Amino acid sequence: MKKRVYEVAEDLKIPTKELIIFLKKEGINVKNHMSTLDNETIEIIQEAITEESREEDKDKEKRKVIVLEKMPSLKDLSKHLKIPLSKAMQQVSKFANIYSVDKELPWQIAQKVYKQYDYEVDISTKLKKVLKSKKIKETEHALVSKSPAITIVGHVDHGKTTLLDMIRKTNVTKKEAGGITQHIGAYVVELKKNRFVFIDTPGHEAFTTMRARGVKATDIVVLVVAADDGVMPQTVEAINHARAANVPIIVAINKTDKANANIDKVKKDLAKYQLVPEDWGGDTLVAEISALQGKGINELLELISIQAEMLELQVTPELPASGIVIETKLDKRKGILATVLIQDGHLGIGDYFVVGTAYGKVKSMMDDKGNNLKHVGPSTPVEITGFNKMPLAGDIFQVVADDHFAKTIIDGRESEEKKKQNKSQEKVSLDNLFEEMTKGKIKELNMILKCDTQGSLDAIKGTLSNMGNEEVEIKVIHSGIGAITETDIMLGSASNALIVGFNVKVDVNAQKLAKNEKIDVRIYNIIYDLVDEVKAALKGYLKPKLEEVVNGKAEVREIFKIPKIGIVAGCYVTEGKISTKDYIRVYHEDSKIYEGKEFSLKRFKEDVKEVNAGYECGINVAKVDDLQVKDIIVFYNYREVER
Ligand code: GDP
Repeated sequence: MKKRVYEVAEDLKIPTKELIIFLKKEGINVKNHMSTLDNETIEIIQEAITEESREEDKDKEKRKVIVLEKMPSLKDLSKHLKIPLSKAMQQVSKFANIYSVDKELPWQIAQKVYKQYDYEVDISTKLKKVLKSKKIKETEHALVSKSPAITIVGHVDHGKTTLLDMIRKTNVTKKEAGGITQHIGAYVVELKKNRFVFIDTPGHEAFTTMRARGVKATDIVVLVVAADDGVMPQTVEAINHARAANVPIIVAINKTDKANANIDKVKKDLAKYQLVPEDWGGDTLVAEISALQGKGINELLELISIQAEMLELQVTPELPASGIVIETKLDKRKGILATVLIQDGHLGIGDYFVVGTAYGKVKSMMDDKGNNLKHVGPSTPVEITGFNKMPLAGDIFQVVADDHFAKTIIDGRESEEKKKQNKSQEKVSLDNLFEEMTKGKIKELNMILKCDTQGSLDAIKGTLSNMGNEEVEIKVIHSGIGAITETDIMLGSASNALIVGFNVKVDVNAQKLAKNEKIDVRIYNIIYDLVDEVKAALKGYLKPKLEEVVNGKAEVREIFKIPKIGIVAGCYVTEGKISTKDYIRVYHEDSKIYEGKEFSLKRFKEDVKEVNAGYECGINVAKVDDLQVKDIIVFYNYREVER
């Protein structure tokens, strides 16, 4: 039996046009609604269409939808979203000062918070009527364009400080010239219609620290490269940090006044790091400047405003202030001082706020020109007093309605922090890599690689980049020569990266930080070991870990000088069993004087393989010729433990 297209559409309760589109998609060509379809085709269509609608239903089920019968209060929000009340307060504070937890929230704000938690909100017909009868009109707060926050980065001595000083000096207006500028960690520069905020805390370390804590203080990075020195290790580090933070880079080629300045060489070097200037056909904004002589500074500021315009940064001055702590200090007279970069909203004296696990009420505000202010708007750094305890650089600052809100939010944060401390944070490590991969958490494995020489760095980097598989791609986000430092750990933590060293040390501060941040740092001395472990982790298994076991100890009791052989120590085995298969460590008064495998074992002039505790023996350590009575020799080996 045959049917016309429009009849089939009627049966399926879908518009004829939709059916024709569907048929074309399936490769069944029909002329128009009068075309005929045979029975078999009709059956296939029926099946396919019901399958499609089932999929749609499933999608709907997956979406979180909430139907509201009445406007929610803060308490309702916390119940619906299954979050603590303190968290709901925190979320709502971003949009308005709400003073009661039981009062109905403005509709727009409630909607925004539900959305943040991926809920779609629907309102009941009854509520719709109420809203209509009350004629609730909620206007969105006005958006205005934001002044960009800029961090200046680059290699040491390339002129960052000189540039910051010069920008500040060139742009101080006559009125301000007599005033005293204050170091508060950031300052504002105005040029024509543009306004810029320069963050003045030392280099990229500050912004990486902040980013590690999930906040973004910088909109644009200015990378200073000295024309007489070119791209140096910290230049590369800065590039990698800015990239990892996804912040655009403007290049300032500095010291162009110097006789040995080589601008072309700098540009060539930069091109290797995908920073290709516009005049070379790329899209990197580059200014050629002399920070010392003040040349090219205005051009650099022009470029920054072009970049800022492209970013289309916007803020909402009417909102309660939110921002980020840039610097803190303790003043003998004034107490705790913190510079907060107000990123959005407005702040006034007497406003209550929370910041990390501290809170307070704004007592005073001072800007970078030393003015005391009563109100400030977005994109303004101000030094504030009124904290109950010292906040940390990188803490997020948020104005809240009142004292009660502040304390409840802080209590919530403190108990959350405690919970977190108990449950150690999950970070990628070689041991859990496969697990994370199969959970679908990692698609790209970020790595930071530090090596002893450029040669080994190039070799390892090359091998690693080719080692990914379908599930995970390896991305070396930063590499360099030298020890693993605190900055590497910060970057690793911020980017959830594995940190790997080849023939390098981890400096003491970095070790501490790695422990705190629960970052996996691996040091290798053999390239194959490094490559093998990563390969094994990618494949889903790791070779058993080697664990050291002490097999025995011997004490030197007498020293014999034997021609041709050298020093032989007459020893007594005090513990366990010692063997020529073992490695040894020789201690003289608690300090290690040798570690290795080059030794021989004798009993009554005969070479032996093993000696048990309670027996005497002679030990010759090839590389040690000053063994002394009472020296201790520890015999150890490795055993494999399953991971
Ligand atoms: P930073 O370590 O990057 O902050 O570098 P500084 O700003 O301290 O500058 C290092 C040195 O380079 C200082 O002696 C500056 O006077 C000098 N310097 C900075 N900019 C220029 C420049 O444009 N031209 C010349 N000739 N020297 C500069």
